[in-house]
Amino acid sequence: MDLDWSIKLVIIFVLLLGSAFFSGSEVALFSLDRKNLQTGLDKSGIIYRYLLNLINFPRRLLVTILVGNTLVNVAVSIVAVALAVDISNYFHLNLDIILPIQIIVITILILIFGELFPKVIASKNPFKFAKIIAIPLNYCSIIIYPVAETITEIIKYTNFGITFLLTFPLKRVPAFYFYLNFYLEYGLGTVQIGLV
Ligand SMILES: [Mg+2]
Repeated sequence: MDLDWSIKLVIIFVLLLGSAFFSGSEVALFSLDRKNLQTGLDKSGIIYRYLLNLINFPRRLLVTILVGNTLVNVAVSIVAVALAVDISNYFHLNLDIILPIQIIVITILILIFGELFPKVIASKNPFKFAKIIAIPLNYCSIIIYPVAETITEIIKYTNFGITFLLTFPLKRVPAFYFYLNFYLEYGLGTVQIGLV
């Protein structure tokens, strides 16, 4: 039982580190620009190429980070529930009391160590942080790539749809009427000619 607890605690610690890694990466990479990279890094170096590869595709980068961060945060919560169940069984405590306590504790831990703390550190030292996460984040982006790319496409089309709907009454109407008139004048004409 004790070994099982320690394994779960280690998993929670590692996953919190993962959450910190993704949240810090978001702040560090989105506060960097190409000029920073070009002046601060060896252009033939692997870290420079990896960072440039990440920064050049900001939408994919953002989705990769958000998917990774959400996955590890959800995983932390699941392992924490399993740990809470173990604790309640071992000490014969009421699970209805242990679970809400677990939710509060894990939320505070994720907020402080998985989100706030790494973001503050990354915002103060974006360049240093970016250099550390460049290689692992690149591998993560390769693993998450299929999911990230699918979500990126959905966002693109949703964005296009929303923009189209929002601007349709204002900007598209003249174009629409132009096409409608064109169709009525020439399209129907062709159909009629075809029928005759
Ligand atoms: Mg996080």
